Amino acid sequence: MTTADGAPAVPIADLFIDGKWCEGATGERFPVTDPSDGTTVAEFAVASDADCDAALEAAASAFPAWSATSPRARSEVLRRAFEILTAEADILAEIIVRENGKAWSDARAEATYATEFFRWFAEEAVRVPGEYRLSPAADKRIIVTHQPIGVSVLITPWNFPAAMATRKLAPALAAGCTTVLKPARETPLTAAYIVDAIARAGVPAGVVNLVTPKASGPAVTRMLAHPAVRKLSFTGSTEVGRTLLKQAADRVVSTSMELGGNAPLIVLPGADLDMAVEGAYIAKMRNGGSACTSANRFYVHDSLHDDFVEKLGNRLAAVVVGSGLDPANEVGALVSLYERDKVAELVDTAVGEGARVAVGGTKSETGAFYAPTLLTDVRHGSTINRSEIFGPVSAIVRFTEVDEAVSLANDSEAGLMAYVFGEEGQSIRLAQRLNAGMVAVNRGVVSDPAAPFGGTKQSGLGREGSSEGILEFLETQYIAVDA
Ligand code: ADP
Repeated sequence: MTTADGAPAVPIADLFIDGKWCEGATGERFPVTDPSDGTTVAEFAVASDADCDAALEAAASAFPAWSATSPRARSEVLRRAFEILTAEADILAEIIVRENGKAWSDARAEATYATEFFRWFAEEAVRVPGEYRLSPAADKRIIVTHQPIGVSVLITPWNFPAAMATRKLAPALAAGCTTVLKPARETPLTAAYIVDAIARAGVPAGVVNLVTPKASGPAVTRMLAHPAVRKLSFTGSTEVGRTLLKQAADRVVSTSMELGGNAPLIVLPGADLDMAVEGAYIAKMRNGGSACTSANRFYVHDSLHDDFVEKLGNRLAAVVVGSGLDPANEVGALVSLYERDKVAELVDTAVGEGARVAVGGTKSETGAFYAPTLLTDVRHGSTINRSEIFGPVSAIVRFTEVDEAVSLANDSEAGLMAYVFGEEGQSIRLAQRLNAGMVAVNRGVVSDPAAPFGGTKQSGLGREGSSEGILEFLETQYIAVDA
């Protein structure tokens, strides 16, 4: 892990408060583990309450000056961060692999995707819309403008440790907000590397801060009670999101919530089978299935069911599983033994409820690996069908009527993502009947910094990326001027 121009040679494992890397008030540290073999990658500094307070106060002090910089100046910092991380994408990918365990191809793709948020929001920083018009009664002129919302707390999960951080940091900084980032405990090294890149890009002290408290719950509760905080942007489970929404209510803190998914994948009669199998493979296996957008419930039409199962099964049986440090391995480890065992338990429960293991169904002896798995005869409404699997398990349900597929797909509290494979016109019409914030038609991936990412129902509130992403960090202001 070395770079030509001043990037750290070993992963940074400290807190970043008011423009300085520091060990934290207690000097305590926690291990960051490589899930593929259980070795310790680094010992990361624990943030105490005092450190979290100091980070919030640094963000509050930096806010007046940063929010008053020109959009162009903020844009240029973001552009430099894009350039730095583009040049260092392999290093970033290696850090992701070491602490998250994912395959090299997934980590490298994430490094690029994550970095693109800096380019996209460098472009959006200078394009914030406003309005100027005469009122209908002609008694005043209506000016609508946007102000940065203020100090923003950003909480990110471990499954995309780089992209979930940049998808929040970039629009927050573009909007003129100052930030405190709290990454997942499993993956703080990636967050530290990104924060360091932003610091090297020239962001002033206090604008970006990084804290890693020992226990997230009490630390975040305390942070949300701080009078400076005006925004919470959270990506994680629906369960934690619900708790944070309640806490944010106390001080009426604005929230953006990217929560869990349970994506249906529908294969319609007349779908191109090879396209459906390849798309389904990507929709399921990207990131080893640890994605909130991951295809979770497969609804396959009777006419294609057996061929689909056979082809997808063959594809899954051929997957090479192993450490992400070897680029030849297509699927890496899950983030922890705990997550591996959760997946194993879901599969066992599914079998107990009548599903059949066509491929896989085994966990590794050592390391957090789970074999790519195909389950058939899964019942709609069974435990696995109602759970976010977060692992490489495809659970297939058969259907006969298209309308039935729509109602099965919509029968979930989640509404983040859906996939449809079929004739294009029919698929687009059907997509509009699905309760999902995002629908992929005849493809396995949707994520793009230029497109709005987010869910309906209990999958969240607000959108990230696109021109909407920056608005989450802006407050609309209306100025009435006498005509
Ligand atoms: P995941 O299932 O992806 O780990 P979580 O919702 O548990 O999702 O975690 C997402 C983020 O929320 C992580 O940064 C985690 O540390 C943080 N987190 C977990 N529990 C809480 C909590 N009670 N309050 C605030 N943040 C939390």
